[in-house]
Amino acid sequence: MNIILLGPPGAGKGTQAQILVEERGMIQLSTGDMLREAKDSGTEMGKIVADVMARGDLVTDEIVIGLIREKISGDSGSGFIFDGFPRTLAQADALADLMSETGQTLDAVVEMRVDDGALIKRITARSTCGGCGAVYNDLTKPWPADGKCANCGSTEVKRRADDNEDSLKQRLMEYYKKTSPLIGYYHAKGELKSIDGLGEIDEVKARIAGALDG
Ligand code: AMP
Repeated sequence: MNIILLGPPGAGKGTQAQILVEERGMIQLSTGDMLREAKDSGTEMGKIVADVMARGDLVTDEIVIGLIREKISGDSGSGFIFDGFPRTLAQADALADLMSETGQTLDAVVEMRVDDGALIKRITARSTCGGCGAVYNDLTKPWPADGKCANCGSTEVKRRADDNEDSLKQRLMEYYKKTSPLIGYYHAKGELKSIDGLGEIDEVKARIAGALDG
């Protein structure tokens, strides 16, 4: 089963994708993670995208489609979770082409709905583990009291450079202008399942399971 998690920054896509990876053996394809890796390892492409990402703008379709193209013919586990991709109609069309070229299908698009006030709170509170990438949140899933990641034991807490209020405003603007039209696009194709993304992690997980398995 190949799915897209669609929603604004901070909707919980990464958190829920990690759960689907652990519990269902799916493979998470996060273009944001791929771009951050390129930036951190200082590749040419990483240098090009660094400023764009820091501002909260979208990277070109060409770059992100290229990243997805590389991954889509590799190991698909029990299915791909597209997390943060597609973000434009051109990316959505490119994904449809790539899937049909590789003989795969897109089974569901799960829209995670969260209001803006909650997004700002969630994003300014979030962090990830420097060791394994596990997602934490000061409000909903704080770091263990002993300071060690529950997953890998690392003590390195990372906060994203673009998780600040200015960049977040721009990221939200980009979402409403360029990504939210995908809701109508996938609705028209009969692939959209919308769920309430507010609430405890386990509640949201159950709603996603209902959308995928129901
Ligand atoms: P994310 O981790 O998904 O919030 O993405 C972080 C940043 O990476 C975004 O604000 C964009 O600058 C860039 N980015 C990630 N995915 C895409 C995409 N599919 N299209 C364009 N830019 C992207």
